Amino acid sequence: MKCLNCGQENKATLKLCRKCGRDLTLPPVWFPDWKWHLRTLSWIYIGTTIFFFAASWLFHKLPPPYDQRRIPAEMTPWLNPHKVPAP
Ligand SMILES: [Zn+2]
Repeated sequence: MKCLNCGQENKATLKLCRKCGRDLTLPPVWFPDWKWHLRTLSWIYIGTTIFFFAASWLFHKLPPPYDQRRIPAEMTPWLNPHKVPAP
C-alpha cells in the first residue's frame, strides 16, 4: 500500500506509514478542484439571483404602502423627533 502523504510503499498489514507515520486506515483527504469551485459558485450565484428577483416580485405584490420605497414621514415619527419639516 502506497502512503498518500509521502509515497512510501508499505505492507498492506501496516496501519501506520513506516516513513512518516501517517494513519493508513484513514481515507484520503479530499480537496475541491477548480471545477467544484466553479459549479458551487455558479449555484450560489444562480440561487442568489433567483432569490433577488423572487423577493422583488413579492414586494411589488404587497398592498400599499408596503410596496413603496419612500415611506411617508407620518409613518416614521421616530426618524423626525423634533418635527422639522421635510424638505
Ligand atoms: Zn508516509
